[in-house]
Amino acid sequence: MLTTSPGGALCIGKGNIKIGSALTFSLPSRLTCPGASPWCLRRCYAFRYERLRPSCLDAYGRNLSLSLDADRFTETMVGTLPRGLRGLRIHVSGDFYSALYTNTWIRICQARPDIVFWSYTRSWFSEAIQPSLEVLRHLSNVRLFASTDSTMPLPPAGWRTAFIEEDPRAQGMPCKKQQGHVESCLTCGYCLFSESGHVVFKVH
Ligand code: SF4
Repeated sequence: MLTTSPGGALCIGKGNIKIGSALTFSLPSRLTCPGASPWCLRRCYAFRYERLRPSCLDAYGRNLSLSLDADRFTETMVGTLPRGLRGLRIHVSGDFYSALYTNTWIRICQARPDIVFWSYTRSWFSEAIQPSLEVLRHLSNVRLFASTDSTMPLPPAGWRTAFIEEDPRAQGMPCKKQQGHVESCLTCGYCLFSESGHVVFKVH
């Protein structure tokens, strides 16, 4: 389910069965994923979802257009996210596609310290984007994981890492939702509210 800002330029997802009542923000997959490995591109669940739901792809495209105007994107996002919101998942689909775009998220997260923002990214693999991600991940209300798979190197030291189960290097807590132990990310809270610890996902 999607809700939009006045004028429809910004489309916010109303969560899903995994995330719970947190809100989500997404961009078109692949096009905005400069750190994606061939392994990731072959298995991209977001790409499959977009093909099944063209209206979502259209909404993600509008989000991308808005994000190209950093000031307008910041103002719209900051003004649209409701008071009392516990968490916003950045990028159920898509990723941090440039340093400029990542810097815009730094502004948004700083402007809304009342919200926890969390995300999993492969853009750490881009030398051009990684410095901005380093700033973003150190904000007190941001939980940012570096995603990897067995075809990618390990992320730099200090990053919380999201592993794939089949990766022999995988270490950390198996995702509680995928294990059937919790109803949603909000009831689990491990990725959002803990400040350390890796996570291990099964392949979608
Ligand atoms: S470990 Fe918990 S918070 Fe993290 S993705 Fe799984 S259910 Fe969500």
